[in-house]
Amino acid sequence: MPVAGLLKRGQLDVLIQTLRARGYRVVGPRVKGGAIVYDEVSRADELPVGLVSVQQPGRYRLEDSANGRLFDYVHGPESLKRFLFAPQETLWTVAQNGEVSFKETLPEQRPLAVIGARACDLAGMEVQDRTFLKSQYNDFSDPYYATRRENLFIVAVNCTRSAATCFCASMNTGPRAREGYDIALTELEDSFLVEAGSAAGAAVLAELPLQPAREMETTQAAQAIEAAARSQTRRLDTTDIQALLFNNLEHPRWDDVAERCLSCANCTMVCPTCFCHRETDVASLDGKQSEHQRQWDSCFTLEHSYIHGAQIRPQIRQRYRQWLTHKLASWIEQFGVSGCVGCGRCITWCPTGIDLIEEVNAIRAQPEAKT
Ligand code: SF4
Ligand code: SF4
Repeated sequence: MPVAGLLKRGQLDVLIQTLRARGYRVVGPRVKGGAIVYDEVSRADELPVGLVSVQQPGRYRLEDSANGRLFDYVHGPESLKRFLFAPQETLWTVAQNGEVSFKETLPEQRPLAVIGARACDLAGMEVQDRTFLKSQYNDFSDPYYATRRENLFIVAVNCTRSAATCFCASMNTGPRAREGYDIALTELEDSFLVEAGSAAGAAVLAELPLQPAREMETTQAAQAIEAAARSQTRRLDTTDIQALLFNNLEHPRWDDVAERCLSCANCTMVCPTCFCHRETDVASLDGKQSEHQRQWDSCFTLEHSYIHGAQIRPQIRQRYRQWLTHKLASWIEQFGVSGCVGCGRCITWCPTGIDLIEEVNAIRAQPEAKT
């Protein structure tokens, strides 16, 4: 869709108020516990003014750049995942009152608008769509995910700054948002270049005090996004990556990484595409009612590989190998795309700074078998 125009930075509040007037619950980036997370936003001055994130393997810090910009923080630990695939929810309840009855508990239908999603987040959502929505990869749609997906409005932000852990450019997923958004913003000196990505987005933009964008501003926006891509020093070489990993399942690097990995599951919690979960029944004390709950889980937990009396991946080397080979190799067989979109969150938020690119590179440098 064509560029709709320019919105002055001081008028971003009009976008928030327009979305709220249309019935959306609006969430956007907020500072909580020293990190940027998504939370309810009712005014633009609640956004993280002037903050930038400094990200390294195992390290995340917010610093004040005093530049007045709103979206230079790049991203925090959260993606769009929890807004579509809830960390914990009740799928159905069972009651026993003379007879047994089941009740489905679908999520509330109130539309949600998320401000600040990045290109990697949209790519992560597209990967999860293949898991949770009916497609050539999947025979059914998860009604919980599908309901939230239908009611989601996305205001994406094209990145004009990358974190040191980002590698979306090498995964061809960013830093420009390509699809899946309703509105896309690119932050310029004191305004945003605004684009609509859907009819719903265009309808919202029609209510904003936009000024015409000149070629100078569209060029500036394109150059800023390109500069963010060029600034990325990490890149994942995906050449023959399926064969590389499948042919090296007994590589000594898996023992090496197991020495550093705590099996804490942080990497899977922050990953926008990971979808492991467990389902449990929680009964009331009187035994008359029970809730069937779904909860995020991780292939790094020992229990997740428990099948009929045995843990099939008792060692950390096996669990790390399972995660990496699924993410970068068998995901492609399963869903036709990589399970990694290059957001770099698993690198930043790993307490011991394990970098999946370094692990792949180490195996590629000295493969055990020909790929
Ligand atoms: S790779 Fe890092 S974040 Fe992931 S389980 Fe191991 S220690 Fe935790
Ligand atoms: S594997 Fe790591 S870099 Fe890739 S999408 Fe998941 S969190 Fe992001």
